[in-house]
Amino acid sequence: MTTEPVAITSPLAASEHDQLLSGWGRTAPSRAHVTSPLSADDIQLTIRAAGPRGVLARGLGRSYGDAAQSGGASVFDMTTLHAFDLDVEAGTVTALAGASVDEILRAIVPAGFFVPVTAGTRFVTVGGAIAADIHGKNHHVEGSFGSHVTRMSVIDGTGELLELSPGDPKTADMFWATVGGMGLTGVIVDATFRLIPIETSRMSVDTIRCVDLDDVMTRMIEGDDDYRYSVAWIDSVAPSGRGVLTRGDHATRAQLNAKEVAHPLDYATPSLPSAPAFVPNGLLNSASVRAFNEAWFRKAPKNRRGGIESIPSFFHPLDGVRDWNRIYGPQGFLQYQFVVPDAAGWLVERTLHRLKDVGAPSFLTVLKRFGPANPAPLSFPQSGWTLAADVPAGNDRLGPVLDELDELVASEGGRLYLAKDSRQSPTMLARTYPRLGEWQAIKDRMDPRGVFTSDLGRRLSL
Ligand SMILES: Cc1cc2nc3c(=O)[nH]c(=O)nc-3n(C[C@H](O)[C@H](O)[C@H](O)COP(=O)(O)OP(=O)(O)OC[C@H]3O[C@@H](n4cnc5c(N)ncnc54)[C@H](O)[C@@H]3O)c2cc1C
Repeated sequence: MTTEPVAITSPLAASEHDQLLSGWGRTAPSRAHVTSPLSADDIQLTIRAAGPRGVLARGLGRSYGDAAQSGGASVFDMTTLHAFDLDVEAGTVTALAGASVDEILRAIVPAGFFVPVTAGTRFVTVGGAIAADIHGKNHHVEGSFGSHVTRMSVIDGTGELLELSPGDPKTADMFWATVGGMGLTGVIVDATFRLIPIETSRMSVDTIRCVDLDDVMTRMIEGDDDYRYSVAWIDSVAPSGRGVLTRGDHATRAQLNAKEVAHPLDYATPSLPSAPAFVPNGLLNSASVRAFNEAWFRKAPKNRRGGIESIPSFFHPLDGVRDWNRIYGPQGFLQYQFVVPDAAGWLVERTLHRLKDVGAPSFLTVLKRFGPANPAPLSFPQSGWTLAADVPAGNDRLGPVLDELDELVASEGGRLYLAKDSRQSPTMLARTYPRLGEWQAIKDRMDPRGVFTSDLGRRLSL
């Protein structure tokens, strides 16, 4: 089955313009020359003619910080290259890098498949998923996105099109440096990845409200192995750190009622209301964060087993409001996401406390457990706890607290996620990604002229 390669053949897609680009957090935008390539040839020509500010690939701009922007550079809007092909026999998709998980799901779910890993939004491209080596609620069982990629083609810094595979000893190191390499080793043109077979498009979900943070964490340690997907939402404002734990798997036909089983693979995404176009700073104050957290806690069932939910409501609830990032107002927001080994689980509570101390309680707080790391030197996940906290930018007291937390994360053997980062220092990065030198050596080989650059890359000397 092949989807129509509409945008590839559309002459309207071949545009070039200057544009202010930012990440999802809308902080620190920079202006770049944006081109919409129609083929790998277009990308190769631009790379060979690259100026001193270099080039960078961009997907749907869902990384939070400055990873998908590069002031003064040529930035490829990869979303014009978005055709893909489902191989039902092999259970794989081969996609151009600009294909989004959203459009892939629309084609593969009715055919009985699901993506191996999905982020909390379906509006990410295949290129962005590989470059950030994204993780989902199943990391403790199935690892991150790059572990399911069987091959990819990548244009390197000399303009050469390389075929990379984890199973080929000649290219495996370049493959893994590109997984999690944040676009700095080359432009991913297309990739093949394995899918999960599913019987139905519904999820069977156990939900439980937990009285405090200890309760959440104990239940996760004791029970996560019994579930394919697991995530906890934490009330960052309540002193107890209460939360809601949701865990589940794809529902089987036997778990559906008569009405549902008549259309077991139906897949529809809700039509979206938009967030207001302009939101003044200050709307997200402590009172509104408290009210939101209270409502989120109350809307969860106290203890429900085997609830049937749709894929969008289980995996992508935030996609229910278009452009919700605008609610943080013109100063934008950042997401602080770290991973620490199990022994440093205390940092979860410390982080939430310190953010409250400086009047920046997290609006939305998510806690997950990771399984072991994969071979990619810059991949973020490693065994332990990962906390993601959304906080408004523009609070003067936030920076010093995050620096203090960085220090604790580093000294406990943890690190920050580059796809969410907008502020860590190069020293922090070097301290917490021990295989950085190995990655840099492969990057230098793949990109001898240093044409792949981003604002994040310059900030962190990557
Ligand atoms: C609401 C929300 C929830 C999220 N939840 C999660 C989550 O649960 N887990 C998780 O891991 N992440 C999560 N993310 C982050 C998101 O999954 C990653 O940032 C992802 O990389 C975004 O994909 P994108 O297509 O928007 O890429 P962009 O943000 O456009 O780019 C991200 C990086 O990929 C590079 N890149 C993009 N395309 C290519 C290409 N073709 N070749 C080479 N490099 C390329 C860019 O240069 C950049 O460095 C979430 C983001 C949002 C907004």
